[in-house]
Amino acid sequence: MAAQEYAAPPPARELAGKTAIVTGSTSGIGLGIARAFAEAGMHVMLNGFGDKAEIERTRMELEERFHIKTAYSAADMSRPADIVGMVEDAHRLLGKVDVLVNNAGIQHVEAIETFPIPKWDAIIAINLSSAFHATRAVVPEMKARKWGRIINIASAHGLVASPFKSAYVAAKHGLLGLTKTVALETAEHGITANAICPGYVLTPLVEKQIPETAKARGLTEEQVVKDVLLHAQPTRQFVTTGQVGALALFLCTDAAASMTGTALPIEGGWTAQ
Ligand code: NAD
Repeated sequence: MAAQEYAAPPPARELAGKTAIVTGSTSGIGLGIARAFAEAGMHVMLNGFGDKAEIERTRMELEERFHIKTAYSAADMSRPADIVGMVEDAHRLLGKVDVLVNNAGIQHVEAIETFPIPKWDAIIAINLSSAFHATRAVVPEMKARKWGRIINIASAHGLVASPFKSAYVAAKHGLLGLTKTVALETAEHGITANAICPGYVLTPLVEKQIPETAKARGLTEEQVVKDVLLHAQPTRQFVTTGQVGALALFLCTDAAASMTGTALPIEGGWTAQ
């Protein structure tokens, strides 16, 4: 008798019909989270930069494959007015916001004494302040419905530092503080706020920092992958976007209703060392 193919269990349907905004979901981790949500029957607003035709193809594919509603916002997460506009668009196009995932982020790797000031400002704005503006805009409706999930994509760099990443490490540590504060303010309203702290995931954000890290540390790009990136993670494996998506989905379920204010590492054992 032929061995039976392994089939992943179907995702819980308890979340079908919930509506989520996932910032920075045209690529990488955000897209992985949007896919996990869509597969569970959640309506999703995508956001981020990229080729318009490709974004439209992704949006249509999610709608057709998972029979959900989607929308797209081109809001720039460095602009507070754009963020408010994105939440308004979500209401107009999808009706409500039950789940907010603050995921959009950028990186720059350089020693502090030459770290460009505009890069510091952009990283703080996109990786930290955008989460404040978006959270501020959605909490009132979540409180009114007595249900909400806020998920901040921080990083292992929210828990520990690495050299040459001053702005990123500062922003991600700050994001954990914001997560805890929002968790306390919303705890009695059926809302949870948690941070996910991924290790290295092989996305465009990481691909771009390989040559930057090689320059900052005087290494070859191959050495950066083996001796810096994967060296940080005892599993010696990259984390996958699907794994982060599954964790974000779990945080939306009722089983996770008592988890709030947490910082959840998903980093191959990096911060256990
Ligand atoms: P990515 O480059 O693949 O995706 C980043 C997304 O953010 C894209 O959709 C991009 O268009 C969007 N974005 C960038 N600037 C924006 C802006 N101003 N306004 C709106 N959208 C903007 O990167 P990724 O690795 O998927 O990173 C996603 C998040 O995960 C980031 O917050 C990052 O810090 C975090 N993270 C990544 C890793 C990793 O190893 N890749 C590890 C830990 C945490």
